[in-house]
Amino acid sequence: MARTHPSIIRAAFAGLCPRCGARTLFAAPAELAHECANCGLNILSLERGGRFVGVVTMLLALVLILAALAVDEWLRPPLWASLLFWGHMTVGAVIFGLRFYKTMWVYHQYEESQQP
Ligand SMILES: [Zn+2]
Repeated sequence: MARTHPSIIRAAFAGLCPRCGARTLFAAPAELAHECANCGLNILSLERGGRFVGVVTMLLALVLILAALAVDEWLRPPLWASLLFWGHMTVGAVIFGLRFYKTMWVYHQYEESQQP
């Protein structure tokens, strides 16, 4: 049964529920809601098993630290500029990484749960 879903990237940005498409998937920027406020889909039970979140965060942080070191070596920016820039980058990338990862996982679980 092939249903049309919004693209994962759009779903991750807007936090779209896999069942009804309402913007109810996230309660906080990187925190999934317990259930969809619109259709009552139990998001918490779909998230179960998706416990690699810590690994994803660590990998992202590692990549960012390496990137920061490379840029530092290359441009030699003033320290305050580095801190400001990488502080924002890290927070943004970690939040988006988690959102993207959680959305992928929930959509995958939702599709599995739809199989007979
Ligand atoms: Zn819903």
